[in-house]
Amino acid sequence: MRQNRNMRISILGLLAAVCAPLFAQTPVHLRVDATDAPRRLFHVQMSMPVKAGPLTLMYPEWIPGEHGPTGPIVNLVGLKVQGGGKTIAWKRDSVNMYAFHVDVPAGVTSLDVAFDFISPPENSGFSSGASATSELAVLSWNQLLLYPQGSQPDDLQYQATLRVPNGWRYGTALPIAKESGNEIEFQPASLTTMVDSPVSAGAHYRTIDLGTDNGIPHYLHLAADSDRALEVSPEVIGEYRNLVKEAGALFGTRHYRGYHFLYTLSDHVAHFGLEHHESSDDRYDERTLIDPDTQRVSADLLSHEFVHSWNGKFRRPSGLISGNHDGGYDTPMQGDLLWVYEGLTEYLGEVLAARSALWTPEDYRERLAETAADLDNKFGRQWRPLEDTAVAAQVLYEAGSDYSDYRRGVDYYPEGTLIWLEVDVTIRQLSKGKKSLDDFCRTFHGGPGGAPALKPYNLADVVAGLNAVEPYDWAGFLNERLHSTSAHAPLGGIEHSGWKLVYDGERSDFWKAYEDAEKLTDLSYSVGLKVKDDGTIADIAFAGPAGKAGISPSTRVIAVNGRQFSATELREAIDRAVKDSKPLELLIKDGEYYKTYRVDYHGGERYPHLVRDESTTDLLTEIIAPKVKK
Ligand SMILES: [Zn+2]
Repeated sequence: MRQNRNMRISILGLLAAVCAPLFAQTPVHLRVDATDAPRRLFHVQMSMPVKAGPLTLMYPEWIPGEHGPTGPIVNLVGLKVQGGGKTIAWKRDSVNMYAFHVDVPAGVTSLDVAFDFISPPENSGFSSGASATSELAVLSWNQLLLYPQGSQPDDLQYQATLRVPNGWRYGTALPIAKESGNEIEFQPASLTTMVDSPVSAGAHYRTIDLGTDNGIPHYLHLAADSDRALEVSPEVIGEYRNLVKEAGALFGTRHYRGYHFLYTLSDHVAHFGLEHHESSDDRYDERTLIDPDTQRVSADLLSHEFVHSWNGKFRRPSGLISGNHDGGYDTPMQGDLLWVYEGLTEYLGEVLAARSALWTPEDYRERLAETAADLDNKFGRQWRPLEDTAVAAQVLYEAGSDYSDYRRGVDYYPEGTLIWLEVDVTIRQLSKGKKSLDDFCRTFHGGPGGAPALKPYNLADVVAGLNAVEPYDWAGFLNERLHSTSAHAPLGGIEHSGWKLVYDGERSDFWKAYEDAEKLTDLSYSVGLKVKDDGTIADIAFAGPAGKAGISPSTRVIAVNGRQFSATELREAIDRAVKDSKPLELLIKDGEYYKTYRVDYHGGERYPHLVRDESTTDLLTEIIAPKVKK
């Protein structure tokens, strides 16, 4: 696969030599003025080499790592195109909203394009969601540039300068040419590298050295809404330094020149992580790194995104290579292998969080119990096989959170954890402890290392990679799990690694931290409700007692057995009903109407846990043990 790609590039190089001028020879000059970022406005000016004749300018649509057409075209405003000192009319394509047609007059060799980008205030979404506050901003270059249709992002060069508000500091993986005052001039970079290299900046900013390995540096750049949020303890910094070493031990080779975690800490930006080759755009609550409970529930965010540098950026399913070639960012992506791209990353990100001491072994097991219970109780398993959640990724990320266990969401993340754990355990058992999934990672994700590279794969490559580590019917193993419509989740990885999924009436510390972070009470496995602190029913278990009683999501619990709702009152009523034959009475407000529902449930509170099965060897503890001596 790699050889073909190199051939393609050399053929293009040849074409460039014979039919000049192509865009590759003169860089596009891009100036971004972010001094109005606190008002959520970014000003863009581009100067682009052109030839006379029809030209189509494209705004990136299919954003790498987001697996969908998420480019925020609706927030591009004030578009002006000029050439030879005169305004040139543009016309948006009637079908493709991301395409602008212009006719370049004879004699014009350079086009000046200007527009503004409105960074939205909403908290939802990914990089196109809220990205700027009065104190900080995250810049995604794909939102701040246009490119000529038909050009290859690998071959198109951009020379960018960026102005940030006075006094703001910044971090990025994009190589810098020089700085002066609040202006940064970057080295010329391909469009691929630009889109892959966001910048975080802010008034409250701290860069922490996470250590160098074979000359390759690692940094944690924190942009926060307050100075207090930057006061990370030496212990937490030590855990992230462990992460750098443990990832090196897992994969062997690093496919980057340096790695930059851009961690944005704010309650007013979208919360997510987006992977890049040499950085990640990670965003969570303002107090994440100074509040132990928030740190606990989010500890695998950075490890997940870091793993993507190997699994997702360097090795990528061929269907997810929009952008790098084959037509630029207007090429639709195909998500059918996201259970490898995201699922394996989810598994490894959690394992690395435990190996790095970001999680205790108990934290890891409680998260795994949560994942297993969630999937094992999904009503929608009986109509929707896991593979369909991956194929439908481009619409599922935006799906509502109501009736989620009937619909199924982007389940290839958590179910990827279960499947890859089972792969790991199976390799360990078949090889009698001599091999593990770590061996697969070292070969499948190995290579010369150094600068970012891309090595595409398909399902046959994954199967061949597994067979090279340990021969087995891996195609059959994977296909069975991908296409199953069994009512139950694949729990073989847990069971064969010496543990059992059980339920009891006690919430773990991990579960309490999750409920606090989400501001809800999760009674999914007992009465079948997830209730927010104000009584709003976030969701129901479709086949659970509350669902069977006719209660629907997005309504609101007003009273429990005649007394005003509170989370404590609801929990205690469930506990009292164990010894009471009367149903639970819930007064529910639905729009402007009130109705009492009787829920006949007497099983008490139930929360998932993993307990040791002494009849089986404990492989799980070995899997999550540190591999690097501390
Ligand atoms: Zn991911």
